[in-house]
Amino acid sequence: MSMARRKEMVIVGNGMATCRLLDELVARGGHERYSITVIGDEPGGAYNRVMLSKVLEGAEPDAVVTKPPSWYAEHGVRLVAPSVAERIDVTERRVVLQSGDPLRYDIAILATGSQPVVPHFNGMHDEQGELKPGVFVYRTVDDCLKMREYARPGDNAVVLGGGLLGLEAAKVLSDRGLHVTVVHLGHGLMNTQLDFVGGEMLRRQIERCGMFVRVGRTIESISGEQCVDRVTLDDGEQLAADVVVVACGIRPRVDVAKRSKIPVNKGIMVNDTLATQVPGVYAIGECTEHAGVTYGLVAPAWEQATVLAAVLTGTQSRYRGSSLYARLKVAGVEVASFGVLEPSLETDRAIQVIEERDFAYRKLILRGRQLIGAMFVGNVGQAASLVQTFDRGDALPEDPLEVLCNITGGGAAGGGDRTICNCFKVSESAIVACVKEGADSCEAVSELTKAATGCGSCKTEVSRLVQLHAKPKLAATG
Ligand SMILES: Cc1cc2nc3c(=O)[nH]c(=O)nc-3n(C[C@H](O)[C@H](O)[C@H](O)COP(=O)(O)OP(=O)(O)OC[C@H]3O[C@@H](n4cnc5c(N)ncnc54)[C@H](O)[C@@H]3O)c2cc1C
Repeated sequence: MSMARRKEMVIVGNGMATCRLLDELVARGGHERYSITVIGDEPGGAYNRVMLSKVLEGAEPDAVVTKPPSWYAEHGVRLVAPSVAERIDVTERRVVLQSGDPLRYDIAILATGSQPVVPHFNGMHDEQGELKPGVFVYRTVDDCLKMREYARPGDNAVVLGGGLLGLEAAKVLSDRGLHVTVVHLGHGLMNTQLDFVGGEMLRRQIERCGMFVRVGRTIESISGEQCVDRVTLDDGEQLAADVVVVACGIRPRVDVAKRSKIPVNKGIMVNDTLATQVPGVYAIGECTEHAGVTYGLVAPAWEQATVLAAVLTGTQSRYRGSSLYARLKVAGVEVASFGVLEPSLETDRAIQVIEERDFAYRKLILRGRQLIGAMFVGNVGQAASLVQTFDRGDALPEDPLEVLCNITGGGAAGGGDRTICNCFKVSESAIVACVKEGADSCEAVSELTKAATGCGSCKTEVSRLVQLHAKPKLAATG
């Protein structure tokens, strides 16, 4: 019998989900089973989008690249970039590129991510229908390069959106010497992750860093002949503005799926194997909707990529949804949140610890002795162990303040091994083992375990463990 031909796999989108999918496929020998082609509309190889603020700060784009084009060549993966996929011809099994070339596939994977939501305001566009000079979105390396080239110290910036992305952009612009006002429609900052008090604490910390915040407001119109010079808010207030950053949400990028008649609701609908209803077509990452849920953080995209790589290399695996654990460094302030934000039953309890001077905040929401949600602003030491208590459904002690205030950061309720790096699922014990074997810095631990190389939010915790467990260095003798 002749050798079976390698199946053709075409992946649309070369973002963070694809990057992880490729690693997982290579680890399982999938690149020998499939002939893999990746189509990316951004130039170059894959990069770590979570670290984009570095580029906005001034780093070279190479600083965030996770797979240079040489990686693809070395692993026998064909990278077609920059190139836009137009649609999938699901009858002929071809991915059609904007350049016209069709690519035959046995397996097509949509990993097209999200796009910024850009509300329409008067005066926002130029005559060609493009965003007026001075108005930016914040999603790609290209967006960062354009914004950093335009914004000068002494300029005034208005950032629309007080979520993760808006606050991150605001901090970088403020550090670059701009006068920054964040305008946020919700009644508290980061209202997806925080309740009102949490949002207020975050606002005060942010204002202490030198930025200004208007909550419960939005932009009514943007003025300026050739470029932006002023925004008018919905209460009539006018703000001088040379730069406007629109960061008020994302929506799944589903254009290719729609043109291909692949079922889409909010996102591309997938089942527990990440398959769409169309045979041979799968989807992963922020473009998907699984069990009615769309995600906007990298951890779920990576979990989906891992399951799909297993499925397509013949290991039984199912995706059952991701628990939403956000641990983020927002404008220099650590924030963590999971589960519900508020009690919903009359018998639910909420316990709050407010540190007024530091504007730090911790809150647990309990149903009986079960943790159903928690949030932290500034003082996140207990978040990593509590999220595991939450995931396992363990009972909290009679007095939950015991775990909330266990400032040693050591194993909380239920003990056990904490996951320190949520992106790569690296446990405390694995990190301590590396340190005991000689890894004496966060970077050394990262090299061995990949911890802290995803979103980077666990860097402080990894460094703390290194300090705690590293053998003291012998003083050099002369
Ligand atoms: C500034 C910023 C900061 C963030 N910070 C965090 C954080 O701290 N923590 C966290 O968990 N998450 C964070 N995120 C979210 C995180 O980046 C995303 O969850 C992650 O990138 C999702 O991966 P993805 O592959 O689904 O989408 P993407 O990484 O967006 O990749 C999709 C790729 O597909 C391409 N594409 C789309 N359509 C086509 C087409 N038709 N043809 C060819 N290519 C196409 C897109 O251009 C893009 O390159 C941040 C995002 C941004 C923008």
